[in-house]
Amino acid sequence: ATPVAIMVGTGKGAEHGILIKSGEALELAHSLDSVVLDKTGTITEGRPVVTDVIALGGTPEALLEIACSLEAKSEHPLAEAILDYGSQKGIVINQVADFQSISGKGVRGALGEQVYFAGNQKLMKENGIELADNQEQIDQLAMEGKTPMMFASSSRLIGLIAVADVVKATSREAIQALRDLNMEVTMLTGDNQKTAEGIGRSLPLNQVIAEVLPQEKEKVLAGLQAQGKKVAMVGDGINDAPALVRADVGMAIGAGTDIAMESADIILMKNDLLDVVTAIRLSRAVIRNIK
Ligand code: ADP
Ligand code: MG
Repeated sequence: ATPVAIMVGTGKGAEHGILIKSGEALELAHSLDSVVLDKTGTITEGRPVVTDVIALGGTPEALLEIACSLEAKSEHPLAEAILDYGSQKGIVINQVADFQSISGKGVRGALGEQVYFAGNQKLMKENGIELADNQEQIDQLAMEGKTPMMFASSSRLIGLIAVADVVKATSREAIQALRDLNMEVTMLTGDNQKTAEGIGRSLPLNQVIAEVLPQEKEKVLAGLQAQGKKVAMVGDGINDAPALVRADVGMAIGAGTDIAMESADIILMKNDLLDVVTAIRLSRAVIRNIK
């Protein structure tokens, strides 16, 4: 493309709050055939709220006290949801020792002599926590599109807390518009498979890939590229950064983390997936003008 066409295209993008960092990214976007979308914070608002508190054995207050104490040390959006809920209920936060965050799985920490775990099924299984009696309940929450979190002492499950996150107002329309541009659209998430399918059911996606650890997101991108696909990645989180770099075109949500924005080729300032469509259309227009 000529420098003038690139300049005009970049300027048009900026008018829409689409910041294109290089002429190369603008040119490459016309050849894309696949778009991979992160779920939390990209397709959804990324502000989950607590919907269910299920105490097993003890009271809901006792469960919340343990949950809030552990999650007070985590920076995850799920932790924030639990803390907001706890503070509305006047739950006390106690001092946690030996806190550890387990990437893509949850957290652990000690209250007095007792060690507790908070996280997903992988974390529970790794620590020998039996889930069989509650598996149906867990699956039911997930099928409703909620994210079930499990809380356990070192010996047994003590409760479940589920959160739900709403799909952004324009995500459905944007995914349909990408399909109309002949893109293959994939949702990629570290969340539970059933939760991802629950949320994906109302969206015109080609594919849902769930339970992907942060360090594995990049490998999913590389796998699609190995099939000869030209892939855009759209994400907001620290865990999306390597995939944003790996993608043919990386697009970061403007409200996301600094590291996602640094890793991307294009920044969507309005946090709206319709701007992914605009960016691809813009690139096609720029390339058409040159030919
Ligand atoms: P995403 O790709 O949706 O941003 P993550 O990779 O950050 O997801 O987390 C994957 C899963 O690990 C979450 O859906 C949750 O089940 C569990 N998890 C992570 N952090 C926490 C936490 N602080 N408390 C409880 N569960 C957590
Ligand atoms: Mg995210």
